[in-house]
Amino acid sequence: MLSTMQDVPLTVTRILNHGMTIHGKSQVTTWTGEPEPHRRTFAEIGRRAGQLANALRDELGIDGDQRVATLMWNNSEHVEAYLAIPAMGAVLHTLNLRLPAEQLAWIVNHADDKVVIANGSLLPLLVPLLPHLPSIEHVVVSGPGDRSGLSGVAPRVHEYEELLAGRATDYEWPELDERQAAAMCYTSGTTGDPKGVVYSHRSIYLHSMQVNMAESMGLTDKDTTLVVVPQFHVNAWGLPHATFMNGINMLMPDRFLQPAPLADMIEREKPTHAAAVPTIWQGLLAEVTANPRDLTSMANVTIGGAACPPSLMEAYDKLGVRLCHAWGMTETSPLGTMANPPAGLTDEEEWPYRITQGRFPAGVEARLVGPGGEHLPWDGESAGELEVRGPWIAGAYYGGSDGEHLRPEDKFSEDGWLKTGDVGVISTDGFLTLTDRAKDVIKSGGEWISSVELENALMGHPDVAEAAVVAVPDEKWGERPFATVVLKEGATADYEALKAFLAQSVAKWQLPERWAVVPAVPKTSVGKFDKKKIREAHRLGQLD
Ligand code: ADP
Repeated sequence: MLSTMQDVPLTVTRILNHGMTIHGKSQVTTWTGEPEPHRRTFAEIGRRAGQLANALRDELGIDGDQRVATLMWNNSEHVEAYLAIPAMGAVLHTLNLRLPAEQLAWIVNHADDKVVIANGSLLPLLVPLLPHLPSIEHVVVSGPGDRSGLSGVAPRVHEYEELLAGRATDYEWPELDERQAAAMCYTSGTTGDPKGVVYSHRSIYLHSMQVNMAESMGLTDKDTTLVVVPQFHVNAWGLPHATFMNGINMLMPDRFLQPAPLADMIEREKPTHAAAVPTIWQGLLAEVTANPRDLTSMANVTIGGAACPPSLMEAYDKLGVRLCHAWGMTETSPLGTMANPPAGLTDEEEWPYRITQGRFPAGVEARLVGPGGEHLPWDGESAGELEVRGPWIAGAYYGGSDGEHLRPEDKFSEDGWLKTGDVGVISTDGFLTLTDRAKDVIKSGGEWISSVELENALMGHPDVAEAAVVAVPDEKWGERPFATVVLKEGATADYEALKAFLAQSVAKWQLPERWAVVPAVPKTSVGKFDKKKIREAHRLGQLD
């Protein structure tokens, strides 16, 4: 028997209409570097999304599921694109502005993007690429930046504000199939070509509800979230859509992502929440240690994308800012777990839960798989690869405009679960602890050493600002850990001291013999430790 319920498609259009009416007064504040930030209400953003959709259809010829790319910082125009493009039935394709040029061109060509909306300050990156982007017919430029490089380029060039000016704010949004593509994002391709993940209206809708659950970020229209995680990094962890559902105010840093302006933003605008990867919080901590600022409005921060060192969590606890650890990936929209401890515990009892990756919300099913394909128990001890499935988890990668979607065996199980490539354990009460990425685990003499465990322990040393540990080949053991360490300014700890410190928390056979003190750990395009680069530098003898 079928139900008697209405079958209303779960679409971005409904999120847009809800946000601009029910939460019309909520605001997006964008940092400008001027004395005053820029503010725009959800109602205005909704109307401008209507204008953008009219312009894209009438002036630029978008009339189906063509891909419209964005090369933009986090700002209110980017939110308009987030809503207008999917709601009109086209596909939003956010481009990672930190990727190498060839990879960016590969991605645009693979997605067959027709239009790119770019911030003026990013034209020096876009203009040299244009001759290699034959599918791009229109470039739309928004915000400050020198336009002179665009004269004589092949695509037609438009000013964002001119394109919107005077257009109708209403758009007859089509009723879309909820399973239709709404947005796409490519993984940063640390191995092989980047892979395109295509989100549906339904997956975005359900993921937004999950983000807003009290068990997850749990924000309301009384909150302001500082969205540091870029809109090109897994849809800014779902925030631009989730905020429109609950009327959560957004504070957008635009191109001012350095620790000092972030600290200024927090002190002045008093966000109650923020989201970013650990390296951002490391940088901000160093900044406020040198030049104290009041961060206490930001009581609650979502930290993820890479393991959060417990020492960082402790340092922020002391500043009155609670970091909540989350795990996810491009393929999981991204929120897969959040580490809100169970009820009824003291601070001390909560601690072991807070430093896990967290527990799975309703909608994310998980299992651990051992090397022989066997399913492992959730006993907090049996370590295996994490596999997940659920309505906002990818079941395939984009296969190109004429190709079928791709289901590589190393990424999807035969029964359709996503193989995450992350190794860890799950406790009896469903909390996930990741020990490493499968490709970063150090395999030493038949035993596994967790690079993350060594890094976390090292970053607990008062002289250490950052530490990254990678596997390097070793004749006797196969692989051994190699530690690169960034010392805090004026710090003097030497390898022997660091080794002695590590020995207090890890087994002797896991202690790295090889060390390098480096000025900075190289970072990936989304601000994580770039272990591939460290391994490469070591191989080339640039580190010892
Ligand atoms: P990339 O592969 O370019 O880093 P993603 O952002 O999709 O792109 O990365 C997802 C991966 O990041 C996960 O598979 C996991 O290895 C790592 N990750 C994400 N969150 C955490 C976390 N809280 N702790 C440890 N690792 C994490």
